[in-house]
Amino acid sequence: MPVDGIRPASGATQPASLIVRNARIHTGDDRLPEATAVAVRDGVFTVVGDDATIAGQVGPDTRVVDALGRRVIPGLNDSHLHVIRGGRNYLLELRWDGVPSLAAGLAMLAEQARRTPPGEWVRVVGGWSAEQMAEQRLPTISELNAAAPDTPVFVLHLYQSALLNRAALAAAGYAKDTPNPPGGEIVRDHAGNPTGLLLAAPTAILLYQTLAKGPMLSKADQIVSTRHFLRELNRFGLTSAMDAAGGFQSFPDDYAAVMELAKRGELSLRISYYLFPQIPGQELDDLRRWTATVHPGDGDEWLRCAGAGETLVWAGLDYENFREPRPELAARAWDDVDAAVRLLLDHGWGFRIHATYGETISRYLDVFEKIAADGGWPGTGWFFDHAETVTQRGLDRIAALGGGISVQNRMMFQGRAFTERFGAEAARSAPPIRAMLDTGLVVGAGTDATRVSSYNPWLSLAWLVTGRTLSGLQLYPARNRMDRDAALRLYTSGSAQLTGESEVKGTITAGKYADLAVLSADYFAVADEDIARIESLLTVTGGKIGYAAGEYEGLDAPLPAISPSWSPVARFGGYQALAGVRQGQDLTAAAAESAEQLRWRQRRGLSSGAGVPDLRRYPADPLLGCF
Ligand SMILES: [Zn+2]
Repeated sequence: MPVDGIRPASGATQPASLIVRNARIHTGDDRLPEATAVAVRDGVFTVVGDDATIAGQVGPDTRVVDALGRRVIPGLNDSHLHVIRGGRNYLLELRWDGVPSLAAGLAMLAEQARRTPPGEWVRVVGGWSAEQMAEQRLPTISELNAAAPDTPVFVLHLYQSALLNRAALAAAGYAKDTPNPPGGEIVRDHAGNPTGLLLAAPTAILLYQTLAKGPMLSKADQIVSTRHFLRELNRFGLTSAMDAAGGFQSFPDDYAAVMELAKRGELSLRISYYLFPQIPGQELDDLRRWTATVHPGDGDEWLRCAGAGETLVWAGLDYENFREPRPELAARAWDDVDAAVRLLLDHGWGFRIHATYGETISRYLDVFEKIAADGGWPGTGWFFDHAETVTQRGLDRIAALGGGISVQNRMMFQGRAFTERFGAEAARSAPPIRAMLDTGLVVGAGTDATRVSSYNPWLSLAWLVTGRTLSGLQLYPARNRMDRDAALRLYTSGSAQLTGESEVKGTITAGKYADLAVLSADYFAVADEDIARIESLLTVTGGKIGYAAGEYEGLDAPLPAISPSWSPVARFGGYQALAGVRQGQDLTAAAAESAEQLRWRQRRGLSSGAGVPDLRRYPADPLLGCF
């Protein structure tokens, strides 16, 4: 593959399929850091340079896009996104991502309840935090009952709690005699009846089990849902994601939609996926079956298996519920982890491991070092996810074993809870990203969406740069923050290195996949507080336009109509962009922005055209307080 800057690829007599010119291109490639034009053919960049160097590439069928001097970056790559599960469920969910106030969120919820047919639920499944709301609190159960008197409502807040209205308690079958499951609490009133509040105590399994009681999308609608979700990700400039599987994401059944889209050539985002055993006690059976039938690398550049994780053994999973003490993992976990890792290494599999706390990481490293002492360690293809409280000693041990780390902006959503439990001093380096880089580790960035953080990568980039939570709490000193170039590197080439794909993605370089985003504002020039409001106006993956807005509107292929038609996405879309993460704004402004958002969605054909939500109908009542 030609990789040296502006030299045309061999066979350049064939014209480009796409040219983007008049752009301020940040290539991420030190050999040619800036350019103004690129040419694309057969899904890869053929020339990176300027008008003069691409001139010979223009043919009669070449689509030439004028970027109007806008900033162009390499396509973003979220190294930890539950994208396959998120896609399967997207059209069922009311997203509070970016909603600026609880009043606005409850108005959306009330309207959605009215347009939801009997038997279906309204679910708000993560991607938001009380920290983003003007009211700085969760909704109350009585507010949910007022907003949705008859329709089951399930609201997930991080991995900490879920709120169910009266109708959802009935639909889930929770009553006075329902026992608490291990690791979860169904909160009761003084008469012993469930109040509607479910607590992760400390694991989120109760929350997930409850969510699983609601109806699912049909297989056909899961395919439509996945396409719409991938376009929603393209909307923010994402062109790749590393799927971390997750609870209730079973292989191969729950991969049918994404595999069908791959077969049809209809993916607009590249996905590397990791396999996650679902049944506690039977993890090794699953891993044995998979290592016998699947191989990492199976698939193609759009959808491929990358290894196992983010959980290998359930007993080795430390939940990041910062409202609860750090979990002490059972000793029995480590024999199973040892067996699982040896099995994977014997079959040439890479893996990723969910580990929030330094103590957990240390236990894993004990196991890995023992395997290495037996001569069984391959050195590459493995990494930890999260690592909020990893120690310098832990980082050194990871480096010695050739591992990497995938970090997410979970602290942006729950940094306040972390600080209240572990203190501001501990929060200053949670996670210690600068120390990870100084230790020489490969670090990829991401979100852990869709159930903790939002999938919007610009929130995560803003967090890397500013070190602040959604409510503006300054977590990190300057020495643990990134400059914008470094933050973007983590989100592009860092993630690509974790999957061993740095030869083909992560920078705008001739010969690499033609993955880029034309941004709505210049990431390198906007004020810190505006980073989180950036979107893409044109997202290109493998030379194909996956998302187009503004003056590029219509250049992306039409999607199938949203189905079912009552989907919250048909009415509200996904991330509430115009509301952004602005804090403390008054509700009139929020309503005006919702109207603006609605008009924008109508122009995009995304809205049913119903009226703007009436934000005054469900005023916040401070007397109701937190739960
Ligand atoms: Zn995780």
